[in-house]
Amino acid sequence: MPIVRVALDVPLSTLFDYLVDADLSVDIGQRVLVPFGRKHVVGIVMEVAESSGLAVERIKSVVQVLDDVPPLPCELLTLLRFCSDYYHHPLGMTVMAALPARLRAQEPVAIKQELSYALTEQGHALDLTEFPKRRVVQLRLLQALQHAALGGEQIRALSPSAPANLKALIGAGWVEPSATTEAAPAAHVFNEAHTLTQAQRQAVDAVAKTQGFRCFLLHGITGSGKTEVYVHLMHQVLQRGGQVLLLVPEINLTPQLENYFRSRFPDAELASLHSGLNDGERARKWLRAQSGRARIVLGTRLAVFTPLPQLGLILVDEEHDSSFKQQDGLRYSARDVAIFRANQRGVPIVLGSATPSLESYYNAQSGRYQLLKLTQRAAEQAQLPQVRCINTNNMPLQEGISPAMLTALDERLQRKEQSLIFINRRGYAPVLMCTACGWLSGCSNCAGKLVLHLKDRRLRCHHCGHQERVPHACPGCGNTDLQPVGIGTQRVEEALQAYFPEARIMRVDRDSTRNKGSWIAMRKQIEDEAVDILVGTQILAKGHDFPSLTLVGVLNPDGALYSADFRASEKLFAQLAQVAGRAGRADKPGEVLVQTAFPDHPLFRALRAHDYGAWAQTLLAEREQAGFPPFVFQVLLRAEGKQEGEVYAFMKRAREAAMTLSMPVEIYGVVAAAMPKRANHIRAQLLVQSTTRKSLQQFLRSWHPLLEQFPAQRIRWSLDIDPLEF
Ligand code: ADP
Ligand code: ZN
Ligand code: ZN
Repeated sequence: MPIVRVALDVPLSTLFDYLVDADLSVDIGQRVLVPFGRKHVVGIVMEVAESSGLAVERIKSVVQVLDDVPPLPCELLTLLRFCSDYYHHPLGMTVMAALPARLRAQEPVAIKQELSYALTEQGHALDLTEFPKRRVVQLRLLQALQHAALGGEQIRALSPSAPANLKALIGAGWVEPSATTEAAPAAHVFNEAHTLTQAQRQAVDAVAKTQGFRCFLLHGITGSGKTEVYVHLMHQVLQRGGQVLLLVPEINLTPQLENYFRSRFPDAELASLHSGLNDGERARKWLRAQSGRARIVLGTRLAVFTPLPQLGLILVDEEHDSSFKQQDGLRYSARDVAIFRANQRGVPIVLGSATPSLESYYNAQSGRYQLLKLTQRAAEQAQLPQVRCINTNNMPLQEGISPAMLTALDERLQRKEQSLIFINRRGYAPVLMCTACGWLSGCSNCAGKLVLHLKDRRLRCHHCGHQERVPHACPGCGNTDLQPVGIGTQRVEEALQAYFPEARIMRVDRDSTRNKGSWIAMRKQIEDEAVDILVGTQILAKGHDFPSLTLVGVLNPDGALYSADFRASEKLFAQLAQVAGRAGRADKPGEVLVQTAFPDHPLFRALRAHDYGAWAQTLLAEREQAGFPPFVFQVLLRAEGKQEGEVYAFMKRAREAAMTLSMPVEIYGVVAAAMPKRANHIRAQLLVQSTTRKSLQQFLRSWHPLLEQFPAQRIRWSLDIDPLEF
């Protein structure tokens, strides 16, 4: 009897052998129900073999083959094996983490079939040149339906009034619904929006003429039209019948973005995969991609694991964004997995950014990636904003705001233009302090401080979620004069409202956008120019076009310049270049004012000159000297537990084990994590690095099994390969 090796969602790095009874037939990639302990669990068949290392009488049989969905393609299984090896995460857990929840469950997947709509014979017989031109939406529907049947989503994407107009067409007998969604792959419609600039053309041509795998870095300043490059590349792949995977950061995947791509490719089925989907939707879209029907897959990091039989191109927008890195469980970088996947598949991949990660930029300089540059804004009138620093040395700030900033805001109000004040801290103030004894509002569970949220009179921990009422008096000395220290979005909002009582001010941060839909409503207000001043965190920095926005003010960026985290200044530059990119997108020139005590810092010099290259060179020189990435490859061992002694004892053993291996890696000391205590857990870490990926991986293959043998009942530990956060 054949044996199958099955991946199960358990924290062991092995596969599990099961017998297949004669009346069953099983393929690699299929879902099976198998006994495990006293339960039945779902697993994925990874291998089929003739024999097992175990004695036959000890092997249990597969209970059921769940064949209601097609088997996972081998290519995907290979990708997941790679991830499991590279990130040193158990194979079964890696495979299961990649699957939609419905495919991990025992119940039949049962996907609701969406209706699709097609022209009737009468509909086909219509002469559209005769059709009344003023029935715009109906005409558009009929034109699109001439190419192919359309699903509900595609119809809704055509226009908000498309469903109503569709009803009218059905009533007239020209269109009919059909239950089979298996419409023929569409003849491909492409809405050309712009003639490409020369630089865009060159970028498109360079990628288009590539045969096989190649990694491109599309380095284009904000507004240079990277999206247009993506669209043209997609068009070429879709024309050949291929599928395209476009990965975007979590925060950027909005319905607007989906609709934008739908409007450019009205008859290509698009599946958008993000964390907001319910289980049924996710499974349905995944299966549409697996069947090859969904031609464009637009998604956040998890979408990198979508099966795509016709994959012809991968695009990663804002490739530097840290949301591509998963911070728990399988700690993968979706960008890096995407590069592996493109290589495995033999197709090109384009990483796009205005401020590439230093890793990617370095690879482009060394020739591993091909660099494509867009150095001008695409729209003719659009100019880059002027960036200036306000030197805050010896300058009295009112609630963190300088007089020069107020003057600039006032000018915008006079001219009825919008301003944006960017500040990286939500809440009212980062901490509450006693003026008598120096007591600070600390979190009782963490090493962090409680942030003052004045609106609801609460102190909140942004690390563990703990919250409490604002005390009336100092818990240390009883003094009632407690003062907020530092500034957050709420405090700035309040201060600006006091300066400009007439101004319409809107605060945009995680607190004000928490409710689903509120950000969409807020955007609408901004677009309708019902807002004069926006006060917000990085939510505002990403990919939104606000045409009347002419001033961006940055309040207190200095903390990141001298942070213990060596990536803090890289992130700050990216963030500031992003927010600066919001100013002056249309015909009105923009201005960016940055309040800083270090106006001569290379970061601000580069920002003023719009010179990412100069900044990247500065950083690369620093990193090379210090022996940091991208010049080395790192792994971080983290451990946490309630007892400090146990945590450090584990780490000490781990370090000793690493030393005794005496391999070509550099082993640092055991240190407390940047947040040494969180939610009542003591946290420690150990960094190991090497000058090549290969030697680091070799080291991990020896070290990881040793770690797994240490007793660690009361601590949690994990390995983070290529860590971004320390
Ligand atoms: P990026 O993603 O690089 O910041 P976008 O793709 O958002 O830039 O493009 C910025 C603006 O330029 C958009 O409004 C877009 O419609 C416009 N645009 C892009 N390409 C062209 C072009 N070739 N000609 C004119 N306008 C263009
Ligand atoms: Zn006190
Ligand atoms: Zn806390």
